[in-house]
Amino acid sequence: MSFFKNLLCKPQTKKLSITSNNGFHLRPVAQFVSLAKTYSCQVTVAFKDKTVDAKGVNSLLSLSLEKGDSFTLVTKGKKAEEALEKLHTLFETLMRNDKEVKEIEKETYSYRGSAIEGEIISEGIAIAPLYTYTFKEILQKSDFSFQEALHKSVNELEVLYTTHQKNNTASIYLAQKELLTSLGQKSQTLTDLEQLVEKESQQLLGTKLDSKRSDYQDLLQRVKKYLGIELKVTFPDTPFILLADDLFPSEIDTLAKTKVSGVVLKETSTNSHTAILLRGAGITSLIADTTQLLTETKVILDAFCGAVVYAPSSNDLQKATNRLQKDEALKALASTKRFENATTSKGKNIKVLANVADVNSAKTAKEEGAEGIGLLRSEFLFKEKKPSLEVQIQAYKEIFTLFDDLTIRTLDIGGDKALPYINLPKEDNPFLGIRGVRLFQTNPGLIAEQLQAIFLASKNRALKIMFPMISSVEEFNEAKLFAQKVAKKHQLDIAQLQFGIMIEVPSVLFLIETFNEVVDFYSIGTNDLTQYLFAIERTHPTLKADTLSPVLFDAIEAIVKKATKPISICGELAANKGAIPKLLNLGIKTLSVSPKNVAQTKEEIRHA
Ligand code: PEP
Ligand code: MG
Repeated sequence: MSFFKNLLCKPQTKKLSITSNNGFHLRPVAQFVSLAKTYSCQVTVAFKDKTVDAKGVNSLLSLSLEKGDSFTLVTKGKKAEEALEKLHTLFETLMRNDKEVKEIEKETYSYRGSAIEGEIISEGIAIAPLYTYTFKEILQKSDFSFQEALHKSVNELEVLYTTHQKNNTASIYLAQKELLTSLGQKSQTLTDLEQLVEKESQQLLGTKLDSKRSDYQDLLQRVKKYLGIELKVTFPDTPFILLADDLFPSEIDTLAKTKVSGVVLKETSTNSHTAILLRGAGITSLIADTTQLLTETKVILDAFCGAVVYAPSSNDLQKATNRLQKDEALKALASTKRFENATTSKGKNIKVLANVADVNSAKTAKEEGAEGIGLLRSEFLFKEKKPSLEVQIQAYKEIFTLFDDLTIRTLDIGGDKALPYINLPKEDNPFLGIRGVRLFQTNPGLIAEQLQAIFLASKNRALKIMFPMISSVEEFNEAKLFAQKVAKKHQLDIAQLQFGIMIEVPSVLFLIETFNEVVDFYSIGTNDLTQYLFAIERTHPTLKADTLSPVLFDAIEAIVKKATKPISICGELAANKGAIPKLLNLGIKTLSVSPKNVAQTKEEIRHA
């Protein structure tokens, strides 16, 4: 007996080496920690004379592990062997996949004026006066305790992680969430947290992880905001090029909404979260030491050749203006035809709709030339707290007035989509658990209220209602019956509404003939369909399904052949350059894409 007990308690060890040029930095560390935390056994990392807990992001980061370093992973206790094996596999994959951001190739410098050279974050040209970043801390009243502020900040990052699943910035929020959780466990008060942030960021100073110091400050700021201490930054209301040592990742969203023409940062790296977000927002930006530059002077920020040209000659200004105009003309060309129909070279007219999440993205969709909404992801409308019936009606009404062709999906919660005000039970396989239409059973009150709001907002107009994650005809019939009962209870006429399904679960492929008899339309959700066809979680950190696999096109072909009701595609595949001609060949006539992809998708169709 004691032999087995000993065996169970015997520490398992493995020597691992850092092979990535980036070292073991925040994003891979966060994924490693996420996995370590799923095991109840002890997981530690020993490096040189230090041993740290591997379930804490900042303890692991404090080791500053760089390329060439080797450390020992130690697991001890329940399932220690399995934990060691899984963490080892994940670590190897993280190292293999952690590609360094390639330096953007610079165009040749051709200005006469003096310049400061730098590293390109995001290409483009900006000509504007320089403006130095300053901020003030403003004190407001707050009802939250430190622990509540911490909890709210972690939740906020969880929601950001969920809502950014569609782009490559999601991992930043997961990393920040893990980091804050870890810092929070060691802090009882704001002062504790401030001291900890100060201490840990000091340790990063001058290391490869130096640029992560802004993440620490960002997290501190997030918590402070809930305690009534807000950062107030003012920006000019005419175009400007922002000069700053660094920016908080969370500031980029706000900055993108100002008149900013470009950004020059002194202390970040092309790999930092701030840089990734600047690229995502399409803001022309550079890393350069601008200490000697004077605010308010007009400069050229040429992030094609990687330079800030100060005191530019009139010739230089002309040259930069020409380059800027060329760049804008290319973008404009794609967008000039955005309100025109998308007709293929063979004369087939294809409808291009938009996938939207809220009133703002619906407005953007309209401006970008969308012909309607093919997917309203209603779960993203109210991210922080449960909306009242009136608030829901108002939001739906605002969106419904923008277009005639409208498809709204009932709440698709579960799996990768969480809402802080809906408590779903913790499941081992959430993607195969309580998700989408299955909430009709578990949370009928929530769904009934949403349907009531949709019916009231849609008053006498055609609208398509779509149920997510349908896997059987009975499930659809029950959901439709549920909707009809809600309408009857509130004496609402829904005769003008159509009911359809998302095709996301492979079982539907074999049931199309029966579905034809009951549904009004189909929308193929290729994101989930791919996940379920290949049994690879769409958010899996290391496994990636082939989103352009012939199997997926065969599945779509099978649907098109059997369906007698209209079909659209609303997954990411619909905007994929390589996929569009194939989809049109298969007979797809409606594509629904994100608002910013509408003009480009129309252009692809015209050339297909
Ligand atoms: C899909 O699964 O393809 C889809 C469009 O839905 P979501 O990405 O919102 O799950
Ligand atoms: Mg889906």
